[in-house]
Amino acid sequence: MKVCIIGGGASGMMAALLIAEKGHSVVLLEKNEKLGKKIYITGKGRCNLTNAVIGNEFLANVVSNPKFVLSSEIRFNSSDTMRIFENLGVPLKIERGNRVFPESDKASDITKALERRLKLLNVEIKLNTEVKEILVKDNIACGVKLVNGEKIDADAVIVATGGVSYPLTGSTGDGYLFAKSVGHKIIDPKPALVAMELCDSDISVLAGLSLKNVRVFAKEKGKVIYKSPVGEMLFTGNGISGPIVLTTSSNINRILPENIKICIDFKPGLDDFALFNRIERDIVTLKAKQFSSLLEGLLPKSLVDIFAKRLNINKEKKVSQLSKEEREAVSFMLKNFELKLKKLDDIERAVVTSGGVCVKEIKPKNMESKLVSKLYFIGEVLDIDALTGGFNLQLAFSTAASCASDF
Ligand SMILES: Cc1cc2nc3c(=O)[nH]c(=O)nc-3n(C[C@H](O)[C@H](O)[C@H](O)COP(=O)(O)OP(=O)(O)OC[C@H]3O[C@@H](n4cnc5c(N)ncnc54)[C@H](O)[C@@H]3O)c2cc1C
Repeated sequence: MKVCIIGGGASGMMAALLIAEKGHSVVLLEKNEKLGKKIYITGKGRCNLTNAVIGNEFLANVVSNPKFVLSSEIRFNSSDTMRIFENLGVPLKIERGNRVFPESDKASDITKALERRLKLLNVEIKLNTEVKEILVKDNIACGVKLVNGEKIDADAVIVATGGVSYPLTGSTGDGYLFAKSVGHKIIDPKPALVAMELCDSDISVLAGLSLKNVRVFAKEKGKVIYKSPVGEMLFTGNGISGPIVLTTSSNINRILPENIKICIDFKPGLDDFALFNRIERDIVTLKAKQFSSLLEGLLPKSLVDIFAKRLNINKEKKVSQLSKEEREAVSFMLKNFELKLKKLDDIERAVVTSGGVCVKEIKPKNMESKLVSKLYFIGEVLDIDALTGGFNLQLAFSTAASCASDF
């Protein structure tokens, strides 16, 4: 059988490898001058290629359509990914949070290992080759047409073109056009794992401030809709970023920003009651000291003025003179520091794209289109996305393996 794969990224290369290993003839078409351009920038150049958890623990990190990827994850999980790369001669290591990296800390080792194996398996790799159109006859995919007009016949076509994030790596949404052209529905692509821009001008002075052991939560029209884990975040000048902010972005990207408030809980380890008592104790200790001293004991210094202003309490006021309402307001703001979301950062700067080919029209067992036979969609082009930690590359590998199982 001759199989044509569009896109030489993580999912396309893995599918090529697994299908060629079964003895099929595979042609891999990549519009860039080299394979796996996005892999080079993953994990800050170190490539967090998977996460050493499986089953429900893995699926808990999939934000969009975890049920759809269930059978792929069962078929090919993180231990399969690790086994493949170790067999390809790439020693791996597991770091904090079960994140898996090449021992060398070089993302290029991942791409090179895949490429070496593809060459050994005689996969026909065509670089600088951009697909324009998918060819379908009698409702069966039968090849592709390139931008230069050339046609390539095939018995099956796999679309592995990625999303629209970081378009300089080649992911420019071509797969959505291919899918649409044969009648597939596209779920509107949204940025995921991305920084946030805020309306609050008073926080611009905080640019560069990073916070540890805090939590953010999102409210839609006053109702809490998402709470992040406790972790790190930072102020960027016009907004916020950092691990827990990225995680939050993935969970709110399908909601209108004007309806969203982002709140910071500076004291996630203390409940409202415990925090209020702590403040009361501090006040007894600080006695005649100023309100600013109380805040300095509870917050980074650069936040003190902002807190005092928002609370409308003179920072020189003696702590002993704070009213009960004022003490309660301090306690409340420490756990509910409210910020108004302007927008999520642009999709071009998002780590992944949420949205894409609607999974209702894709068979979960093998990633084949329910509309056109022998046409498959794998990786980020699908409406699937996960949190940071190696889960997105694993989704690319798992969906590639499901697809390969059909050959
Ligand atoms: C900065 C950054 C860091 C990341 N770090 C991690 C990480 O550490 N761990 C993790 O799990 N995930 C990470 N991700 C996410 C992960 O890289 C992607 O989810 C994954 O690469 C998606 O793989 P893919 O094969 O679906 O698509 P892509 O890797 O985007 O590959 C698609 C390929 O298709 C090609 N193509 C597109 N259109 C055409 C066409 N018309 N003709 C021919 N070829 C075409 C493109 O050139 C591209 O090479 C990161 C993403 C970014 C942007």
